Amino acid sequence: MKTAKIHILSDEIINKIAAGEVIERPASVVKELIENALDAGSTFIRVQIEEGGKKKITITDNGEGMSPEDLKLCFLRHTTSKLSSADDLFHLRTNGFRGEAVASIAAISKMTIISKTKDAPCAQKVEIQSGDLKKTEEISAPQGTSFVIEDLFFNTPVRRNFLSSESAESTRILDVIVRIAIAHPEIRFEYRNGSKEVFTGVEGDLRSRLAETIGTGIAKKLIPLDYFENNISITGFISPSEMQNGKKNRHFLYLKNRPIWNPAVIKAVQKAYEPYGKLISPTSVLFLDMPDMDFDVNVHPAKKEVRFVNDSAIYSTVHRAIRNKLQEESAACGAPIIHLNDCSYTSTVQEPEKKWPSFNNEISNDTLKRNFQAKPNPPKEALVQDLFSLPEFGKIIPLSQKSFEIPEKAPLYSTPSFLQLAETYIVCQDMEGLLLIDQSAAHARILYEQALKTLSSNNMINSQELLFPELIELSKVEKSLLVEILPDLKKLGFYLEPFGGDTYQIRGIPSGLSFSRAEKCIHEFLDSLQEDSPSSKVPLDATAKAWASTTAYRANEKLSGEEMASLVNQLLQTEEPLISPYGKPTLLRIPIEDIHKKFKR
Ligand code: ADP
Ligand code: MG
Repeated sequence: MKTAKIHILSDEIINKIAAGEVIERPASVVKELIENALDAGSTFIRVQIEEGGKKKITITDNGEGMSPEDLKLCFLRHTTSKLSSADDLFHLRTNGFRGEAVASIAAISKMTIISKTKDAPCAQKVEIQSGDLKKTEEISAPQGTSFVIEDLFFNTPVRRNFLSSESAESTRILDVIVRIAIAHPEIRFEYRNGSKEVFTGVEGDLRSRLAETIGTGIAKKLIPLDYFENNISITGFISPSEMQNGKKNRHFLYLKNRPIWNPAVIKAVQKAYEPYGKLISPTSVLFLDMPDMDFDVNVHPAKKEVRFVNDSAIYSTVHRAIRNKLQEESAACGAPIIHLNDCSYTSTVQEPEKKWPSFNNEISNDTLKRNFQAKPNPPKEALVQDLFSLPEFGKIIPLSQKSFEIPEKAPLYSTPSFLQLAETYIVCQDMEGLLLIDQSAAHARILYEQALKTLSSNNMINSQELLFPELIELSKVEKSLLVEILPDLKKLGFYLEPFGGDTYQIRGIPSGLSFSRAEKCIHEFLDSLQEDSPSSKVPLDATAKAWASTTAYRANEKLSGEEMASLVNQLLQTEEPLISPYGKPTLLRIPIEDIHKKFKR
């Protein structure tokens, strides 16, 4: 007789599967255990890690503690003191409510918990391995709870292998702590990595907490925000419209005082700053509040992403709140008010990055270089980008296949000359027509290849020493990233030295880079690294890309004839002259044949 194929999974496997959903890495442990400490009414929370949290994480609080009975229950699945009816699921009063976190962590680590309530005569200590209680002991300890997590993922080695470098994991932990600490300036936080004090947040107000986390200089300039519309309340701080620092990852978003992530809100913030110029890189710390039925936090077990019932109302309210505040501020400074049209939000899904058509296959790099050097007989069949037939100006469409007869006799031009259009594009010519080169994208391509070569050799990029070294203040996350890539930065021409606390001294910058841009470049560089490689040791390619894109010429930057000539020549020496390191086009060609046609020749 055939036996059944289906069987019920063992508790051990169920727990490991569930653990995988809640606990992805050491930072998830820290997040869950800090949230529990907050729920326990703590006013002091200390996080200590070893080896990026892979070896050991200790989280100590001075909260209400657990009784010996509760201590023996808290690491079992679905045990919670916070949720008693299904209805509660929709009312987010505490940080936790699933009763999953401690059990999940216990299933995949060696856990020790020490806890004491106010009235208990002494503290209780329990040791748990793979979710099983191994030992119970009475010891003396102050009121509160201490969780010690050792050898995370020791029994799920595949997961362990997915973890990043120690420094990348500790940076993620720092990010978690910083985001929570901003929401709780009334609580003292301490974060130690090995023997190093990484962060201390003393009890204070929001602005002082922001000074501790994102930098005193920035915190001083932030403008307070307090807005209410559509049943949505928005409070917090935003940067003034003229402040430029770092490019991304400067948005701290909270719902009911808990860190969340939502692309629509971030987009609304960016949009509100747009009229003040493309170079503005805003910082925002926004605390949203709204009725419970207007959002759902159960999208993900780790509860980070929130779904709003009405995304477009949130989008336009956030946009209006910030836009109005910025307008008020510019009016107060006597600057003309910028009139903005209301904009509405269409989709939370970010537009996929427009991919440059496989230009490479169609205009070959060799052909391009040959044409530009004005050799007499360029091969026929060179394929061209037909700009005039584009359905919509500015949109890039795949190239049409089209053969192009070059007059046999004389090359069109012998000496290239250069013109700058809108201080953004270089206009010049080759054998087949008019070339339009995006100066910023082209320069980024040149620098990217230079950086890759430099980083993988013993070479150094030339550096110019600053006569008066400048100070740069970094956020905690930036600083920890900087420490990791300092040797690479040095090779790329940036000489930075610690100047105490989170401040560094810029002593040298790559030659050719303008002094006035040095500080912003470093912030941008660190921000784009965070974006490109948040999960692993920073790869060379990401460093090269970030360096190239932040130090390259900008749009709206005036170039001399020589600079343009040198840029175009260098571009043609690169391995991939047609695309920027981020896959955007560097160059378009309008065939002379098409220009003739337009003039009805
Ligand atoms: P949840 O937070 O969803 O209730 P957890 O698994 O995170 O589930 O925690 C289980 C229970 O353990 C909590 O409901 C709480 O009663 C207790 N607990 C966990 N951490 C602490 C702490 N630091 N202080 C006091 N009690 C705690
Ligand atoms: Mg919890």
